[in-house]
Amino acid sequence: MLRVVVLGAAAGGGVPQWNCGCSVCLAARTDPQLESTQASIAISADGDHWFLINASPDLRQQLIATPQLHPKAGRLRHSPISGVILTNGEIDAVAGLLSMREGWPFTIYAHARVLSILKANSIFNVLNEKNVRRQPIEVNEAFEPALPDGSPSGIEILPFAVPGKSAWYLEGKAHPAGEIGLGDTLGLRIGDKATGKYFYFLAACAGVTDELKSRLAGAPLIFFDGTVWRDDELIAAGLGNKTGQGMGHIAMSGDTGAIESLAGLDIGRKIFLHINNSNPALLRGSPERRIAERAGWQIPADGTEIVL
Ligand SMILES: [Zn+2]
Repeated sequence: MLRVVVLGAAAGGGVPQWNCGCSVCLAARTDPQLESTQASIAISADGDHWFLINASPDLRQQLIATPQLHPKAGRLRHSPISGVILTNGEIDAVAGLLSMREGWPFTIYAHARVLSILKANSIFNVLNEKNVRRQPIEVNEAFEPALPDGSPSGIEILPFAVPGKSAWYLEGKAHPAGEIGLGDTLGLRIGDKATGKYFYFLAACAGVTDELKSRLAGAPLIFFDGTVWRDDELIAAGLGNKTGQGMGHIAMSGDTGAIESLAGLDIGRKIFLHINNSNPALLRGSPERRIAERAGWQIPADGTEIVL
Protein backbone atom coordinates (compact mmCIF):
# COMPACT_ATOMS: atom_id res chain seq x y z
CA MET A 1 0.00 0.00 0.00
CA LEU A 2 1.39 3.35 -1.01
CA ARG A 3 0.34 6.31 1.11
CA VAL A 4 0.75 9.87 -0.13
CA VAL A 5 0.14 13.02 1.90
CA VAL A 6 0.06 16.41 0.19
CA LEU A 7 2.01 18.55 2.65
CA GLY A 8 1.61 21.67 0.54
CA ALA A 9 0.29 22.54 -2.92
CA ALA A 10 1.49 26.10 -3.48
CA ALA A 11 4.40 27.44 -5.49
CA GLY A 12 7.14 29.67 -4.08
CA GLY A 13 5.76 32.22 -1.63
CA GLY A 14 2.76 30.08 -0.66
CA VAL A 15 -0.78 31.37 -0.34
CA PRO A 16 -0.98 34.06 0.91
CA GLN A 17 2.50 35.29 0.07
CA TRP A 18 3.95 37.59 2.72
CA ASN A 19 4.27 40.67 0.52
CA CYS A 20 1.40 40.13 -1.90
CA GLY A 21 -1.91 41.92 -2.26
CA CYS A 22 -3.19 40.08 -5.35
CA SER A 23 -6.82 38.96 -5.33
CA VAL A 24 -5.99 35.38 -4.31
CA CYS A 25 -3.68 36.45 -1.47
CA LEU A 26 -6.25 39.00 -0.24
CA ALA A 27 -8.97 36.34 -0.24
CA ALA A 28 -6.70 33.86 1.56
CA ARG A 29 -6.11 36.29 4.41
CA THR A 30 -9.79 36.03 5.36
CA ASP A 31 -10.51 32.47 4.20
CA PRO A 32 -8.22 29.88 5.83
CA GLN A 33 -9.42 27.25 3.33
CA LEU A 34 -7.52 29.12 0.64
CA GLU A 35 -4.25 29.07 2.57
CA SER A 36 -1.65 26.76 1.12
CA THR A 37 1.94 25.99 1.99
CA GLN A 38 4.74 25.44 -0.51
CA ALA A 39 4.70 22.25 -2.55
CA SER A 40 5.86 18.97 -1.07
CA ILE A 41 4.42 15.51 -0.58
CA ALA A 42 5.26 12.68 1.84
CA ILE A 43 5.15 9.03 0.81
CA SER A 44 5.25 5.72 2.69
CA ALA A 45 4.88 2.06 1.84
CA ASP A 46 4.55 0.82 5.43
CA GLY A 47 2.85 3.75 7.16
CA ASP A 48 5.73 4.01 9.67
CA HIS A 49 8.62 5.27 7.57
CA TRP A 50 8.13 8.28 5.34
CA PHE A 51 10.05 10.03 2.58
CA LEU A 52 9.55 13.63 1.61
CA ILE A 53 9.53 14.66 -2.01
CA ASN A 54 11.21 18.05 -1.71
CA ALA A 55 11.60 20.03 1.50
CA SER A 56 9.74 23.32 1.30
CA PRO A 57 10.47 26.44 3.34
CA ASP A 58 7.16 25.66 5.12
CA LEU A 59 8.32 22.23 6.26
CA ARG A 60 8.19 22.94 9.99
CA GLN A 61 4.56 24.08 9.74
CA GLN A 62 3.74 21.09 7.50
CA LEU A 63 5.24 18.61 9.98
CA ILE A 64 3.27 20.11 12.85
CA ALA A 65 0.07 19.76 10.79
CA THR A 66 0.74 16.14 9.77
CA PRO A 67 0.29 13.55 12.57
CA GLN A 68 1.82 10.80 10.38
CA LEU A 69 5.12 12.67 10.58
CA HIS A 70 5.18 13.29 14.33
CA PRO A 71 7.75 11.54 16.58
CA LYS A 72 6.65 8.12 17.79
CA ALA A 73 4.98 8.14 21.21
CA GLY A 74 7.41 7.35 24.02
CA ARG A 75 10.54 8.28 22.06
CA LEU A 76 12.61 11.19 23.35
CA ARG A 77 14.01 11.92 19.90
CA HIS A 78 12.46 10.42 16.79
CA SER A 79 11.16 11.21 13.34
CA PRO A 80 9.34 8.90 10.92
CA ILE A 81 11.19 10.68 8.10
CA SER A 82 13.82 8.39 6.58
CA GLY A 83 14.81 10.53 3.65
CA VAL A 84 14.17 13.46 1.35
CA ILE A 85 14.13 13.12 -2.44
CA LEU A 86 14.84 16.38 -4.26
CA THR A 87 13.53 16.97 -7.78
CA ASN A 88 15.25 20.34 -8.27
CA GLY A 89 17.37 22.92 -6.50
CA GLU A 90 14.84 25.74 -6.22
CA ILE A 91 14.50 27.47 -2.86
CA ASP A 92 10.97 26.12 -2.45
CA ALA A 93 12.32 22.56 -2.84
CA VAL A 94 15.44 22.68 -0.67
CA ALA A 95 15.11 25.39 2.00
CA GLY A 96 13.16 23.05 4.31
CA LEU A 97 16.29 20.95 4.72
CA LEU A 98 17.53 23.69 7.04
CA SER A 99 14.59 22.91 9.34
CA MET A 100 15.83 19.31 9.68
CA ARG A 101 19.14 20.19 11.33
CA GLU A 102 18.51 18.81 14.82
CA GLY A 103 20.56 15.65 14.54
CA TRP A 104 18.06 13.08 13.27
CA PRO A 105 19.72 10.85 10.65
CA PHE A 106 18.19 10.72 7.19
CA THR A 107 19.32 10.54 3.58
CA ILE A 108 19.05 13.19 0.89
CA TYR A 109 18.55 11.69 -2.58
CA ALA A 110 19.19 14.10 -5.42
CA HIS A 111 20.81 14.36 -8.82
CA ALA A 112 24.51 15.29 -8.77
CA ARG A 113 23.63 18.69 -10.27
CA VAL A 114 21.34 19.48 -7.34
CA LEU A 115 23.79 18.02 -4.80
CA SER A 116 26.43 20.32 -6.28
CA ILE A 117 24.21 23.31 -5.45
CA LEU A 118 23.85 22.13 -1.83
CA LYS A 119 27.61 21.62 -1.65
CA ALA A 120 28.29 25.08 -3.06
CA ASN A 121 26.12 26.69 -0.37
CA SER A 122 27.92 26.14 2.93
CA ILE A 123 24.80 26.81 5.03
CA PHE A 124 23.68 23.26 4.13
CA ASN A 125 26.76 21.91 5.94
CA VAL A 126 24.63 22.35 9.06
CA LEU A 127 23.34 18.91 7.98
CA ASN A 128 26.40 16.97 9.08
CA GLU A 129 27.19 14.37 6.43
CA LYS A 130 27.86 11.79 9.16
CA ASN A 131 24.18 11.96 10.04
CA VAL A 132 22.65 13.12 6.81
CA ARG A 133 23.94 11.15 3.86
CA ARG A 134 23.76 12.65 0.38
CA GLN A 135 23.01 9.98 -2.18
CA PRO A 136 23.29 10.84 -5.88
CA ILE A 137 20.47 9.59 -8.10
CA GLU A 138 20.68 9.18 -11.85
CA VAL A 139 18.28 10.05 -14.64
CA ASN A 140 16.54 6.89 -15.90
CA GLU A 141 17.96 4.69 -13.12
CA ALA A 142 15.41 3.41 -10.63
CA PHE A 143 16.41 3.34 -6.97
CA GLU A 144 14.87 2.15 -3.74
CA PRO A 145 15.35 4.56 -0.84
CA ALA A 146 16.47 2.79 2.32
CA LEU A 147 15.06 2.75 5.85
CA PRO A 148 17.33 3.99 8.68
CA ASP A 149 18.57 0.44 9.40
CA GLY A 150 19.55 0.03 5.74
CA SER A 151 16.68 -2.29 4.87
CA PRO A 152 14.68 -1.63 1.69
CA SER A 153 11.69 0.70 1.91
CA GLY A 154 9.55 -1.13 -0.62
CA ILE A 155 9.32 2.03 -2.72
CA GLU A 156 10.83 2.14 -6.18
CA ILE A 157 11.54 5.57 -7.64
CA LEU A 158 12.45 6.21 -11.26
CA PRO A 159 13.78 9.74 -11.90
CA PHE A 160 13.50 11.06 -15.42
CA ALA A 161 14.44 14.37 -17.03
CA VAL A 162 11.63 16.77 -17.89
CA PRO A 163 11.79 20.07 -19.78
CA GLY A 164 12.77 22.73 -17.27
CA LYS A 165 15.43 25.10 -16.04
CA SER A 166 18.00 25.20 -13.32
CA ALA A 167 17.17 27.15 -10.18
CA TRP A 168 16.25 30.76 -11.00
CA TYR A 169 18.75 32.18 -8.51
CA LEU A 170 21.45 30.65 -10.74
CA GLU A 171 20.20 32.54 -13.80
CA GLY A 172 23.10 34.34 -15.41
CA LYS A 173 25.50 32.73 -12.93
CA ALA A 174 27.75 29.71 -13.27
CA HIS A 175 26.03 26.48 -12.26
CA PRO A 176 28.28 24.71 -9.74
CA ALA A 177 27.97 21.53 -11.85
CA GLY A 178 28.72 23.26 -15.15
CA GLU A 179 26.30 24.21 -17.88
CA ILE A 180 25.94 20.87 -19.62
CA GLY A 181 23.74 17.95 -18.64
CA LEU A 182 20.28 16.94 -17.50
CA GLY A 183 19.15 16.62 -13.92
CA ASP A 184 18.14 20.10 -12.73
CA THR A 185 14.45 19.26 -13.21
CA LEU A 186 13.33 15.72 -12.55
CA GLY A 187 10.01 13.97 -12.74
CA LEU A 188 9.53 10.88 -10.61
CA ARG A 189 7.67 7.63 -11.11
CA ILE A 190 6.99 6.35 -7.60
CA GLY A 191 5.86 2.76 -7.16
CA ASP A 192 5.02 0.28 -4.42
CA LYS A 193 7.15 -2.81 -5.06
CA ALA A 194 4.69 -5.10 -3.26
CA THR A 195 1.55 -4.10 -5.13
CA GLY A 196 2.89 -2.56 -8.34
CA LYS A 197 0.75 0.55 -7.74
CA TYR A 198 2.42 3.76 -8.88
CA PHE A 199 2.01 7.45 -9.55
CA TYR A 200 3.93 10.31 -11.14
CA PHE A 201 5.26 13.48 -9.54
CA LEU A 202 6.17 16.47 -11.73
CA ALA A 203 6.12 19.67 -9.70
CA ALA A 204 8.06 21.51 -12.38
CA CYS A 205 7.72 20.94 -16.10
CA ALA A 206 8.19 23.49 -18.88
CA GLY A 207 6.32 21.57 -21.57
CA VAL A 208 4.66 18.30 -22.50
CA THR A 209 6.58 16.32 -25.10
CA ASP A 210 5.22 13.27 -26.94
CA GLU A 211 7.62 11.17 -24.90
CA LEU A 212 6.16 12.53 -21.67
CA LYS A 213 2.62 11.92 -22.91
CA SER A 214 3.32 8.28 -23.59
CA ARG A 215 5.02 7.93 -20.22
CA LEU A 216 2.03 9.36 -18.34
CA ALA A 217 -0.67 7.64 -20.40
CA GLY A 218 -2.76 5.26 -18.31
CA ALA A 219 -1.19 6.29 -14.98
CA PRO A 220 -3.52 5.90 -11.98
CA LEU A 221 -2.44 9.25 -10.51
CA ILE A 222 -0.28 12.22 -11.44
CA PHE A 223 0.79 15.32 -9.57
CA PHE A 224 1.59 17.95 -12.18
CA ASP A 225 3.01 21.46 -12.40
CA GLY A 226 0.17 23.96 -11.92
CA THR A 227 2.23 27.10 -11.38
CA VAL A 228 0.36 29.53 -13.64
CA TRP A 229 -2.98 29.58 -15.41
CA ARG A 230 -1.69 31.75 -18.26
CA ASP A 231 1.93 32.05 -19.30
CA ASP A 232 1.91 35.85 -18.92
CA GLU A 233 -0.29 36.14 -15.83
CA LEU A 234 2.39 37.61 -13.53
CA ILE A 235 3.10 40.34 -16.08
CA ALA A 236 -0.60 40.97 -16.84
CA ALA A 237 -1.39 41.32 -13.13
CA GLY A 238 1.56 43.65 -12.54
CA LEU A 239 3.12 41.14 -10.14
CA GLY A 240 6.40 40.53 -11.93
CA ASN A 241 8.25 40.46 -15.20
CA LYS A 242 8.63 36.71 -15.69
CA THR A 243 6.53 34.41 -17.81
CA GLY A 244 5.72 30.87 -16.70
CA GLN A 245 8.02 29.59 -19.45
CA GLY A 246 10.72 31.97 -18.27
CA MET A 247 10.56 30.24 -14.89
CA GLY A 248 10.50 26.75 -16.43
CA HIS A 249 6.78 26.15 -15.89
CA ILE A 250 4.01 25.19 -18.29
CA ALA A 251 0.67 27.03 -18.05
CA MET A 252 -2.52 25.20 -17.09
CA SER A 253 -4.51 26.73 -19.96
CA GLY A 254 -3.98 27.22 -23.68
CA ASP A 255 -3.33 24.94 -26.62
CA THR A 256 0.06 23.87 -25.29
CA GLY A 257 -0.95 24.04 -21.62
CA ALA A 258 -1.15 21.13 -19.22
CA ILE A 259 -4.94 20.66 -19.36
CA GLU A 260 -5.02 20.38 -23.15
CA SER A 261 -1.75 18.48 -23.51
CA LEU A 262 -2.66 15.81 -20.98
CA ALA A 263 -6.29 15.34 -22.09
CA GLY A 264 -7.40 11.94 -23.35
CA LEU A 265 -4.48 10.02 -21.85
CA ASP A 266 -6.62 7.82 -19.60
CA ILE A 267 -4.98 9.16 -16.44
CA GLY A 268 -6.96 8.06 -13.37
CA ARG A 269 -6.55 11.10 -11.15
CA LYS A 270 -4.95 14.41 -12.10
CA ILE A 271 -3.83 16.77 -9.35
CA PHE A 272 -2.18 20.14 -9.79
CA LEU A 273 0.69 20.99 -7.49
CA HIS A 274 3.06 23.95 -7.15
CA ILE A 275 0.28 26.47 -7.80
CA ASN A 276 1.32 30.11 -7.68
CA ASN A 277 -0.83 32.58 -5.75
CA SER A 278 -1.33 34.54 -8.98
CA ASN A 279 -3.25 31.58 -10.45
CA PRO A 280 -7.02 32.29 -10.50
CA ALA A 281 -7.78 28.55 -10.52
CA LEU A 282 -7.04 28.65 -6.78
CA LEU A 283 -10.33 30.49 -6.25
CA ARG A 284 -13.23 28.08 -5.84
CA GLY A 285 -15.99 28.97 -8.26
CA SER A 286 -13.76 30.99 -10.59
CA PRO A 287 -14.22 30.33 -14.34
CA GLU A 288 -10.63 29.01 -14.46
CA ARG A 289 -11.27 26.60 -11.59
CA ARG A 290 -14.41 25.34 -13.32
CA ILE A 291 -12.51 24.72 -16.55
CA ALA A 292 -9.81 22.78 -14.70
CA GLU A 293 -12.34 20.71 -12.78
CA ARG A 294 -14.43 19.98 -15.85
CA ALA A 295 -11.26 18.63 -17.46
CA GLY A 296 -10.84 16.28 -14.50
CA TRP A 297 -8.18 18.19 -12.55
CA GLN A 298 -8.10 18.69 -8.80
CA ILE A 299 -6.52 21.44 -6.72
CA PRO A 300 -5.69 19.72 -3.45
CA ALA A 301 -6.00 21.08 0.07
CA ASP A 302 -2.89 20.77 2.23
CA GLY A 303 -3.09 17.56 4.24
CA THR A 304 -4.96 15.56 1.58
CA GLU A 305 -4.05 11.87 1.95
CA ILE A 306 -4.29 9.39 -0.92
CA VAL A 307 -3.87 5.63 -0.60
CA LEU A 308 -2.90 3.60 -3.66
ZN1 LIG B 1 -0.58 36.94 -4.34
